[in-house]
Amino acid sequence: MIRMARCCGRLRRRKATPYLFCMASPEIDALTQALAKLPGLGPRSARRAVLHLLKKREAALGPLLNALMAVEENLATCSICGNVDTTDPCGVCSDQRRDPRALCVVEEVADLWALDRSRLFPGRFHVLGGRLSALEGVRPEDLAIDSLVRRIADGGIDEVVLAMNATLEGQTTAHYIAERIERFPIRITQLAHGLPVGGELDYLDEGTLAQALRARRPVS
Ligand SMILES: [Zn+2]
Repeated sequence: MIRMARCCGRLRRRKATPYLFCMASPEIDALTQALAKLPGLGPRSARRAVLHLLKKREAALGPLLNALMAVEENLATCSICGNVDTTDPCGVCSDQRRDPRALCVVEEVADLWALDRSRLFPGRFHVLGGRLSALEGVRPEDLAIDSLVRRIADGGIDEVVLAMNATLEGQTTAHYIAERIERFPIRITQLAHGLPVGGELDYLDEGTLAQALRARRPVS
């Protein structure tokens, strides 16, 4: 009788506080919170994702876990271009089908991936790791500009495409780099039509990106 009473008492309390009744175990809660911190996912989407993973343990949870572990074990930053991959050099740098004479300079890894998705640039990439910013105190030595100059100085490159974002800081960075590399016998181009002012590469559709890449022009 006592156990029954306790049980009923707990049920009544849970009815009065539905959040406690619905609360997941600490492990599931930790998973939800970790997912909720990902870009594009809030607590609500994270809860939906976790529920899906729990329901589809074999079809979704297992493969996701394996993929995460494989990436985590082999995660590497490419020592040549700064791309993030599971090998060093990365898949782009070690792809022999790419034209080694064309080099596309981007601000972030996300920009490299966005341009590579367009499949229109046949060459290789160089990730700066940001853009010059007086406001945020980002100086040339904070970016991978010296390594870019060294890559060009090593020879074998005919064209450098400055694919910075169409923002003030992106364009300032492009001009700075253009000045640093103008002494080399190479063609220096930058993305042209199609990039909206203030636009960031990672958010553009592939058609717009493709147009901007096709219409690249010499840096004046
Ligand atoms: Zn690379």
